[in-house]
Amino acid sequence: MADPPERTTTLRIGMPLETYVLEGLLGRPFATGAFTSLVNQLAFAAKLVAARVRRAGLVDVLGDTGATNVQGERVQKLDEEANETLFRVLGRRHHCAAAASEEDETIRVLSNDPAAKYLVVFDPLDGSSNIDVNISIGTIFGILRRPMPALPVTEADFLRPGHELIAAGYVIYGSSTMLVLGTEDGVHGFTYDPTIGAFFLSHENIRVPKTGEIYAINEANAELWSPPLRRWVHGLKQPKADGSRGRTQRWVGTLVADAHRTLLRGGIFAYPADRASPAGRLRLLYEANPFAFLFEAAGGAASTGEGRILDVVPTALHQRIPLALGSKADVAEFESALKR
Ligand code: ZN
Repeated sequence: MADPPERTTTLRIGMPLETYVLEGLLGRPFATGAFTSLVNQLAFAAKLVAARVRRAGLVDVLGDTGATNVQGERVQKLDEEANETLFRVLGRRHHCAAAASEEDETIRVLSNDPAAKYLVVFDPLDGSSNIDVNISIGTIFGILRRPMPALPVTEADFLRPGHELIAAGYVIYGSSTMLVLGTEDGVHGFTYDPTIGAFFLSHENIRVPKTGEIYAINEANAELWSPPLRRWVHGLKQPKADGSRGRTQRWVGTLVADAHRTLLRGGIFAYPADRASPAGRLRLLYEANPFAFLFEAAGGAASTGEGRILDVVPTALHQRIPLALGSKADVAEFESALKR
């Protein structure tokens, strides 16, 4: 993806997400009324999920389902609830023809209206195993154009390489809730103000720093790694030529949290293939592609270790893929280290 064009309008910190989507994207060829409406639907779904996440310890949404809440409704696990919330909201305005979720076996058709121009892929609650211990979790999404609006949507319509995404983003439910949206207009972050109930532009035009000190990889898998991968990580820890200390390591174990930090601070995140997961662990459609799109739109890179993530043509909805995200230099160095 080319670097985003120089912006002709100036965004202003503090601008509400809805205003950015309505006015900030105005004039961009991809930003039709339907597209802006769809983005606002995703933001609305994020608010509903955030509201549940914020009360997670209070309303019996933790752990296994089977319980009944005070209203006599069956209590769902938070990830199931997030999943249903996204489908319900996306099903409302006939912009989204169908959506594919990491939680579901196959796609759900939401509108047969030929005017429904978009397809959405999402991971409703990434890192949900971390809910019980109050660690950041998130929602990841990507938007594709519906290829043949005259025909019913099929699973094959979703099996397209990530460079066909027109937008991608995520919501991180961390110490604050933030929605990060990437389009060909660049990548912007909006922080949620719960007292007002709106997202406001807080991180304008996010660019992946060219250099970063942090590497993120699950070192518990080291015994399963290939020798070049092990040598690469060992090399990261060594003092630099000028005698300063080597890289520092962080690992949350929630993709959204590790990728968010890497996007803002630079460095590299890697979930490579190993002996136990020769095809990688993360999902191409719901996790790797949206983040690859965001990193490239922010001037960074995303690789399988052998090539560009966004060029991989998916063969199955739930296909897994090795993933590295970071600055261009770090990702290039990772790729060449794996070849040595
Ligand atoms: Zn996930």
